[in-house]
Amino acid sequence: MSQSDRYNHTTVEMKWQEKWKKEEIYKSADKPKNKKYVLDMFPYPSGSTMHVGHLEGYVGSDILSRYFRMKGHDVFHPMGWDAFGLPAENYAIKTGVHPDISTHENIKTFKRQLEISGMSYDWNHEIDTSSPEFYKWTQWLFIQLFKAGLAYKKKSPVNFCPKDETVLANEQVVDGCCERCDTPVIQKDLDQWFFKITEYADRLISGLDKIDWLEEVKRQQINWIGKSEGRNIEFQIDGGEEKIKVFTTRPDTLNSATFLAVASKEGKETKEKWGKFTGKYAINPLNSEKLPIWETNYVDASYGTGAIMGVPAYDERDREFANKYHIDIVEKPFTDKLLGEKTTHYHLRDWLISRQRYWGCPIPMIYCKKDGWQPVAEKDLPVLLPTDVDFLPHGESPIVRSKTFQKDVVCPICHKPAKREVDTMDTYVDSSWYFIRFADSKNKKEFIGLENAKKWLPIDDYIGGGHVVQHLLFSRFFWKVLFDAQLIDRSLGDEPFLKLRAPGWILGPDSRKMSKRWGNVVTPDEIIPKFGADTLRVYEMFMGPFDVMKPWSVTGVEGAYRFLGKVWRLFGASVDSEQSMVDSDNVASKLHQTIKKVGEDIENYKFNTAISSLMELVNTFMQYKVQSAKYLEALALLLAPFAPHMMEEIWVEVLGKPFSIHKAKWPEYDNSKISSDTVTIAVQINGKVRGTLKVESGIGNQEAGVTELAKKDEKVAKWLEGKKIIKTIFIPGKVVNFVIEN
Ligand SMILES: [Zn+2]
Ligand SMILES: [Zn+2]
Repeated sequence: MSQSDRYNHTTVEMKWQEKWKKEEIYKSADKPKNKKYVLDMFPYPSGSTMHVGHLEGYVGSDILSRYFRMKGHDVFHPMGWDAFGLPAENYAIKTGVHPDISTHENIKTFKRQLEISGMSYDWNHEIDTSSPEFYKWTQWLFIQLFKAGLAYKKKSPVNFCPKDETVLANEQVVDGCCERCDTPVIQKDLDQWFFKITEYADRLISGLDKIDWLEEVKRQQINWIGKSEGRNIEFQIDGGEEKIKVFTTRPDTLNSATFLAVASKEGKETKEKWGKFTGKYAINPLNSEKLPIWETNYVDASYGTGAIMGVPAYDERDREFANKYHIDIVEKPFTDKLLGEKTTHYHLRDWLISRQRYWGCPIPMIYCKKDGWQPVAEKDLPVLLPTDVDFLPHGESPIVRSKTFQKDVVCPICHKPAKREVDTMDTYVDSSWYFIRFADSKNKKEFIGLENAKKWLPIDDYIGGGHVVQHLLFSRFFWKVLFDAQLIDRSLGDEPFLKLRAPGWILGPDSRKMSKRWGNVVTPDEIIPKFGADTLRVYEMFMGPFDVMKPWSVTGVEGAYRFLGKVWRLFGASVDSEQSMVDSDNVASKLHQTIKKVGEDIENYKFNTAISSLMELVNTFMQYKVQSAKYLEALALLLAPFAPHMMEEIWVEVLGKPFSIHKAKWPEYDNSKISSDTVTIAVQINGKVRGTLKVESGIGNQEAGVTELAKKDEKVAKWLEGKKIIKTIFIPGKVVNFVIEN
């Protein structure tokens, strides 16, 4: 190779991607030692392709995986598809294309995009939640929850569009209207399945102490659960026998209460506080004052008792309401006369998992008039999603219209004709356990084998972001249920994700969220052909701290491209160059410092500062014209997780090392060679200062090194020329004095 050889990223990247695939170099070990399970939150393969923002987390986890492998860990880094969901069904309603077809088209595109980005997934464990092989076990898990008394059915209101005759998800309701046709949404009571997540509320809080998550993400979990301790206090209604039970976290403010507020179904559409006086009064049990009873929209019917005491003097929300409706504000001292019973309330509700939708996992239950709801026998799983379904909404679950779904269904107990549940499961159910299935994705007999679970679980590094509060809660709930049932080994602990990190958003070049609407979407398909996947990866990690929001920049991409070009020329020059130069201690110190820093930075998700120090190291190597094979190999190894293709090319084709750099060992650093500060040493000839030396402080204390450098210093050298040194006096870190013949 000569220096003028241009680096052809397209050829090189394709060549190594094929070779990596053929040689299965990312295949996970059968008997892992020192395991690391590094997992991305798996994507929903939507119709719009992946953009560069989606890739950020995947690049980060890929760097981490590659680094861990080089550090001697057996790494498990799988990928799959959260394939059920509403968008594919809506697309089917619009175009008539079956969701199974559109979803699999999208999966193909997503997978190709990940492959051209140089990701090191072990595709042998790929899963697709919409495949019967997967959802058989989703159904099986539902049955385990049912048997454990953690799944039950009850009436619950749903959003319903009367014009489209369809149930709407919360996200499809915009300002109280149907997202599609703008018709005001009504509430309709339907019988629906719930999971009893509330039974785990306390453990979902306490478990957070054991895991390495960002405080903010932990706080979101705690807020969602919304545990509050307080008292239920009973108020007699004036002139009647009736009582109203009120929940309060501040029983000490009872003396200052001036009204009662009960939840109302009216006024829900406005964000503003709304209320209506009922004409009734309640008696304060502490001071016998008459308090007006109001119906309001700011009390949640499902929280506490659905009624509160209004204490505008001490509560911001109550004060706002009192001001609006001219209710008295009275401030009296706190009291510790404790009335009522001590209770704990949670904002967390049981998890409603029924969906009146087609493209989801069928709920494996059968209704018999005599025996009630019965789970489908395990041997009859999976309950297949019927294919003969008309998607157009008719006010009920589309599966109702299948001609095959209810054929020959009998009750598992009395064997008389019975009916299947026609609702499907919330797709959050699929994503609450997929990370378990990865570890044994081909198992036909169990949802996971005990031994395979022990091999890889729990997850060491979980990477992903967005609206994940519920996903994390649901996953932790599932894991705890399985832990309690000993369906996963107790030794694995009762938390599934030991460490969690979230990438920040990548915004469009205009600093707006990437969206078709703004025309600011950047995809890997336009960046990779032009600059290469290595450039894309280096740029994405160099844009800024991993977890902050940052806008895409074209000049930034070009900067990363130039940096890699420089790296390529450095290795090219080193092979051709005839000149030789001793690598100085400066270079050694810099190299060891960089090895230490890059490793630590990767482990702490500080990919941007890792790249900065690699850039500095490349500059140092160029400045000192470093040729030492040992040094250059170390540089290639350090860059390998970031720019895997170019480094493989350099490793194999330039340095002549055996394939693959991604199976090579991460370089080790020598602490004694790392010195962070420099000292200035005065160089004297017969006691007179003739020059100064700036050296790393570690070196400044070494006599041999310092005298060697001092003799080579230009200014000093001319005084020493032709003279005999009689004696050398060395004061560490300060002075070196050469005594010479006059
Ligand atoms: Zn509508
Ligand atoms: Zn029966």
